[in-house]
Amino acid sequence: MGTQDIEVVKKRGGDVKAILAELNKAFSDEWLAYYQYWAGAKVAEGLMRPDVQKELAEHADEELEHAGKLADRIISLGGVPVLEPKEWYKLTNCGYDAPSNPDTRELLKQNIKGERCAIEVYKKLAEFCHKKDSVTVHLAHSIMRDEVEHEQDLQDLQRDIGYMKK
Ligand code: FE
Ligand code: FE
Ligand code: MG
Repeated sequence: MGTQDIEVVKKRGGDVKAILAELNKAFSDEWLAYYQYWAGAKVAEGLMRPDVQKELAEHADEELEHAGKLADRIISLGGVPVLEPKEWYKLTNCGYDAPSNPDTRELLKQNIKGERCAIEVYKKLAEFCHKKDSVTVHLAHSIMRDEVEHEQDLQDLQRDIGYMKK
């Protein structure tokens, strides 16, 4: 817990409890995104399977890193990251789409949807903390940059797969 850090946020009118709630919601999203990517990479089949598997597995690792950074921020603001996985489902903003259809095209579609939701989540988090908690604003922006890249990577694969039909 960073006493001075928390004081600075409070002094600037930040609601630490509310910020922690938003951070834990995003934290829950990241774990679900991690698992959605991880499982998708395992079961993927169809067009461009090796490329899609590689990208999904990379994104899984990056979502887990995001969860780690959010957990660190939660702890420094005096909170506790969600300890019970059951809670992820209750707190998530973006939900979880089980990769029950292993077709690479379907997996790309599902995960693009997730990335678009994530971009929105971090944009809102940055806005929520604007001028009150600059450390969280910075974190939200840095994660958002990764999510924007994720969306782009998946769309690139989707477009390349589109060439195969021609
Ligand atoms: Fe993420
Ligand atoms: Fe992502
Ligand atoms: Mg990538």
